[in-house]
Amino acid sequence: MGPVIATHGLTKRYGDTTAVSDLDLVIQPGEVFGLLGPNGAGKTTTILMLLGLTEPTAGDVEVVGLDPRRHPLAVKAAVGYLPDSVGFDDHLTGRQNLRYTARLNRIDPGEIEGRVADVLHVVGLTGAADQPAGEYSRGMRQRLGMADALVKRPRVLILDEPTVNIDPAGVEEILSLVRRLADEEGVAILLSSHLLHQVQAICDRIGIFVSGRMVATGTIDELAGRLDDRVILEVDAAGPPDAVLRTLEAIDGVRSITRTDDHWRIAATADLRTAIADRLHDAGCSVTHLRRASAELDAIYRRYFTGEDVTGSGDAPARRSEVAS
Ligand code: ADP
Repeated sequence: MGPVIATHGLTKRYGDTTAVSDLDLVIQPGEVFGLLGPNGAGKTTTILMLLGLTEPTAGDVEVVGLDPRRHPLAVKAAVGYLPDSVGFDDHLTGRQNLRYTARLNRIDPGEIEGRVADVLHVVGLTGAADQPAGEYSRGMRQRLGMADALVKRPRVLILDEPTVNIDPAGVEEILSLVRRLADEEGVAILLSSHLLHQVQAICDRIGIFVSGRMVATGTIDELAGRLDDRVILEVDAAGPPDAVLRTLEAIDGVRSITRTDDHWRIAATADLRTAIADRLHDAGCSVTHLRRASAELDAIYRRYFTGEDVTGSGDAPARRSEVAS
């Protein structure tokens, strides 16, 4: 089976604003793809083009092998969409709302009850199915939204900021449900979010979207590796700070040194732990703490979203030492 989403050079301009620029995106069945970017990056515009709800200015788009501009109904039938806020009839129960959606989607009347019961079970709302939707918590409404998107058994599920305004337990439930749908049902999932930490655990791949451009795609580890060719080390040593700093600065491969509240923080071209320990020892400053920091997602995110060195070209930054007072 081919990809379920494929765009090439997809572009959308509103007057002078380019909301989405030259987007190439391929998503396979069973894959969870996280579209990450700050507000205004172009995530919603991308989703609307995939759904055939807004016309691209240029480029190609295929969803389940079809162009949404030419086959809007077939694409709509294959794609479940959960917008950032879902409207339900609050007087109707969860189950009644889902029956209504099933009828709108022209599901065979003989199948409706079974499908509705199935999706209520999948999202964990069987027990609350016969309560009015107006009495649901935000997390429950979001799960009802997922059920609503799933009633037509879509091959693709598109979720726009599905975890916003949901408590941590609700977030956990939604995200594990997303992962399960991909693994067990082979549904392809496109999840838009500005919350890297929430989605990193369940996404197979992530695309970082800034000002309408997809500046990088890959797994979290690939993104971390591409962005930051440095090794970050934390050091603490007994002895006068000036002497520690001078010793560290003199070590080959040290690119920058900063002082945090607790540690010296060193960006280096390689893992210099042995050299650091030896040289500090020779200088009479015994090492009390030395560790290599793990991939820094916050740093990745900040560097992409503030536009610094987004190509990861490896240009050496000017050597600097900053000592906080
Ligand atoms: P995101 O979903 O990442 O927050 P959007 O896709 O909503 O980003 O918006 C991308 C850019 O396109 C923004 O600069 C936004 O102001 C602009 N934009 C979105 N929709 C319209 C519209 N209908 N008319 C004009 N500009 C729009």
